Amino acid sequence: MKTCVIALPDEAATLALGASLARASQGAVTLYLYGDLGAGKTTFSRGFLQASGHKGNVKSPTYTLVEPYLLPDRQVYHFDLYRLADPEELEFMGIRDYFTGESICLVEWPQQGAGFLPVPDIELFLTYQGNARQAKLTACSAVGEKMVQQVASEKDWQ
Ligand code: ADP
Ligand code: MG
Repeated sequence: MKTCVIALPDEAATLALGASLARASQGAVTLYLYGDLGAGKTTFSRGFLQASGHKGNVKSPTYTLVEPYLLPDRQVYHFDLYRLADPEELEFMGIRDYFTGESICLVEWPQQGAGFLPVPDIELFLTYQGNARQAKLTACSAVGEKMVQQVASEKDWQ
């Protein structure tokens, strides 16, 4: 399955989608998270990280650009590239080291890092629907397709 559209009536639904993607993630996975300010990218990431075993807060790493989460059975890097002035800055911060091995990368504002990021397995597009949100998942790899399939089958999202 390549794409899947999911209605997210409230914050809990966005967290649940993050948790569902976390369950579907194994090994090295990269997710690009698109959407306007306040669309729910960080909320989604919080759901993902909590379902991956993280207990504390999750804030967007707006100034540090990346926050590492070294969890018992996975390593997750949460990026927020909103304030990245030039994608080349990613080279200077040693971005390559983050994308090796088995790490999972959640990337807010990936368009800011164009040319310096690994290709994604999934692109998630979050859009406003009045006060609620809508998610569209698009798979960009075989791994991503399996994940979208699993998320779509896990719950009756509609
Ligand atoms: P972003 O990282 O995209 O800028 P945040 O996740 O920081 O967005 O903020 C999203 C805001 O919208 C939060 O206040 C959150 O409670 C709220 N929110 C998240 N998901 C939904 C939803 N499905 N429906 C309504 N409000 C939501
Ligand atoms: Mg954010």
